Amino acid sequence: MKELGISLGNLPLVILPKSMKVKMKPSYPENQTKDFIERNNNRSEWVQEVARHFGEAQKQKRFWGLMFFLSDHVWNVSSRLIHFPFRNLTDVLKTIVRLKAKDIILFLFSLIRIESLLLLPGFPKSKEFKKFLDEQLLITVQTTSKKAPTTLASAGLTYAHLENSYVLGGIGELARFLVDFIISKGGEVRFKEEINGIQIEKKQSNILYSVHTRKNKTYFATSIVSGIPIWNLPKLLENTKNPSQKKLNQFLERRSNRYDKNIWGAFNISILMEDFLGDEDCIHFQFHLEEELPYGLGESIFVSLSHISDDKRCAKGQRVLAISTHAAYPESWDRREESYKSKKQEIISKVIDYLEKNWKGFSKNKILQIQSASPATWEVWTGRYQGRVGGIPASYFKNLLSYPSSFTPLKNFYLLGDTVYPGQGIPGVVLGALNLFKRLG
Ligand SMILES: Cc1cc2nc3c(=O)[nH]c(=O)nc-3n(C[C@H](O)[C@H](O)[C@H](O)COP(=O)(O)OP(=O)(O)OC[C@H]3O[C@@H](n4cnc5c(N)ncnc54)[C@H](O)[C@@H]3O)c2cc1C
Repeated sequence: MKELGISLGNLPLVILPKSMKVKMKPSYPENQTKDFIERNNNRSEWVQEVARHFGEAQKQKRFWGLMFFLSDHVWNVSSRLIHFPFRNLTDVLKTIVRLKAKDIILFLFSLIRIESLLLLPGFPKSKEFKKFLDEQLLITVQTTSKKAPTTLASAGLTYAHLENSYVLGGIGELARFLVDFIISKGGEVRFKEEINGIQIEKKQSNILYSVHTRKNKTYFATSIVSGIPIWNLPKLLENTKNPSQKKLNQFLERRSNRYDKNIWGAFNISILMEDFLGDEDCIHFQFHLEEELPYGLGESIFVSLSHISDDKRCAKGQRVLAISTHAAYPESWDRREESYKSKKQEIISKVIDYLEKNWKGFSKNKILQIQSASPATWEVWTGRYQGRVGGIPASYFKNLLSYPSSFTPLKNFYLLGDTVYPGQGIPGVVLGALNLFKRLG
C-alpha cells in the first residue's frame, strides 16, 4: 500500500488485539492447561504464554528470540536483495556485493530444518510443542518442521505476532479496493475471461504476444506478467512450431514438473450461524483434532470468523465461519464419483461433532446454513490445476539456488504468484511483485 501511495486509513480495517488462538488435542499428555494458547503481537507476552503451555521457559525464550531475529531480517532482506531469487550468475554476483553480515546468518539457517534445530542443546524438546509448530508451519509455509528450512519457517511462525487486521466485508473487499485503484489510474480489469492460449510471434527483434480467451477475444501485448499458476501455464503455450514459443513452453514444463509432488489442496466448510462468541476478541482459531480427518485431510482445522462489527457478510447476531484444512492428493477428488457427496458429508459431521465437544457455545442447533468445498470445487472456483491452492511448499527450497525466479528465457514474459516467489501466501506474492517491479525499473 505504501508503494502505491495508499494510506491504510482508506481501507475499512479493524485492528485485532489477538491474532490467533490455538487449541491442542485435549488428550495430549503434556496438555495440562487444556485451554487455548493465545497469540498476539506482544513478543514477551508470547514467550510467557508458550512457556505456560509447554514448559522449558528458558529454551522457549531462546527459540523465539532466534525466530524473531531471523524473521525481522527475512522481511528486510526480501525487499533489499531484489536480485534474489537468482536468474543467472550476474544476479548471484549483484547479490553478493550487497550482502551484509546478518544476511550470511540467514543463509546459514536456511540450510537447517526446524526439526534439526530442535535437536540442538538449549532448544525446546517437548513433543507437544513440536506438534504445535508443525500445524502452525503447515498453515504458513505449507510443510512441517521435518522439512521446513529454519529461515523461511521463522517468517511463518512469527506471522501471528505482526499487527493483524480484519477487512470489513472480508478479503474480497481488499481485492475490490485494488481493482478500483487500478481503474482510477486508467487501468482496466477484465473478469471471467479465461485465457485458453498464448501465441508468440517474433517481429524483427521484437516479440509480440497474442493472448486468446474463451470469449473468443484476442489481446496483443509486447510484455506479459503472468499470475497464472505455473502448473496451468505450459498447456496455454503448447502445439506450436514457433521456436521462441517452444523454448518458453519447455522451460515452463520443466519448472512445473520440478514442483509437482506433495502439493496441497484445501477442504473448506462455510457456516452461517447464530453468534455464539459475543465480545470474544479473537476471530482466528486453530484446533488440533483428536485424529486425522479421512481422505488425506489434515489433523487440524483453521477457523476464521467474520468480525462482530461486520454487517456486510451477515446480519447482526450472526457469524460466518470459514473452516479450512489441508488436503493431500487434491487430484483424488472427483465431483462425478458416486461417493463424492457422502465423503464431504462425512467430513462435515466429524468437524461439527468435534467443535460441539471442544468449543464453548458452538452448537449444531445454531447453524443456519452450511456448505463445503473440496479441491474439485476449488478447481472450478479458481481454475488452478487439480485445485492446488497451496502454492509451493517450503520443503522445496533446500538451498538458495533452488528458489525460482520471475524471469523466463523470453524477453518480457515474467512470472508471479505463489507458485513462483518463495514464501507464504499473499505476503510472498506481494513481495515477488514488488521485487519484479523494482528490477524492471
Ligand atoms: C483456504 C485458504 C486459506 C488461505 N489463507 C491465507 C491467509 O490467511 N493468508 C495468506 O497470506 N494466504 C492465504 N492463503 C493462500 C493465498 O490465498 C494464496 O497464496 C494467494 O491467493 C496466491 O495468489 P496468486 O495470485 O499467486 O494466485 P491466485 O490467488 O490463485 O490467483 C491466480 C488467478 O489466476 C486465475 N487463472 C488461472 N488460470 C487462468 C487462465 N487460464 N486465464 C485467466 N485467469 C486464470 C485464477 O482464476 C486466479 O484468479 C489461503 C489459501 C487458501 C486456499
